[in-house]
Amino acid sequence: MEPIDQYIFRSSEIFLTHNNTVPAEIPAKFRDSVIDSLDMVLAGRPARAVLLQETQPKSAVVSSSVSGPPHQADEDGVWMRLRAVLASDDPACRALVSPASRALGLLNWHHSTRFCSRCGTPLSAHPSEIALRCESCSSVYFPRISPAIIVLVHKGNDVLLARHANRNQDVWACLAGFLEHGETLEECVAREVYEETGVRIRNARYAGSQSWPYPDQHMVAFHAEWDSGEIRVDPAEISEARWFPWNDLPAHPQQGTVAWNLIHGIFPQQFKK
Ligand SMILES: [Zn+2]
Repeated sequence: MEPIDQYIFRSSEIFLTHNNTVPAEIPAKFRDSVIDSLDMVLAGRPARAVLLQETQPKSAVVSSSVSGPPHQADEDGVWMRLRAVLASDDPACRALVSPASRALGLLNWHHSTRFCSRCGTPLSAHPSEIALRCESCSSVYFPRISPAIIVLVHKGNDVLLARHANRNQDVWACLAGFLEHGETLEECVAREVYEETGVRIRNARYAGSQSWPYPDQHMVAFHAEWDSGEIRVDPAEISEARWFPWNDLPAHPQQGTVAWNLIHGIFPQQFKK
């Protein structure tokens, strides 16, 4: 089946028409920059996810901020950060949240999964599944999803936020970390909060979840209550952690992030009956 929608990515940006929809064709100017592509069904329609080579230095690729107008528009369309699509109130962008996240996650997996890790043979497409197969030893590789938790810890009217040691040091974020083998999500929440801040929690409660294809996470969000302990950060991960009054929060991750959705109680794909 010929693809009728083209989900074109350059790193974590997606190329959209001026109506914030995906184009039906790859613009000719991009065709020499394609480094990977994968056909799939997205939003019930045959689609192609396409990855382009980064052709410009990172500083020149600034396209669209979350709140500001898009840049780098031309007659074909505009590059938008996928995070800006996630944060947008435009109905056309809302309709893209799920298929574009799926497209980018699968494309990231496909582009980084080339050889059989058991015998080293180059992998080929599986005939009937979204998977890759080794013709030599019959191993099958399915798309990888890495589950991670993110948590907002409450203590009375205060919430616990932290500045990371190595990234986004200018914002106060929720605590987060990857699920480990053998533990439940709730155990992961308790472990991550304790490891990063020395605080014990109780009553971890599921708040929502969100695909986060940078490159392959699925973020599971929780609220939890402080149980005991004073803040004592792990300096390898956290430069500073503090309690903030709920009604007077410092600069925190912007709209379109999982942390923003957790803090503000809004997830893009709430379950509807
Ligand atoms: Zn093999």
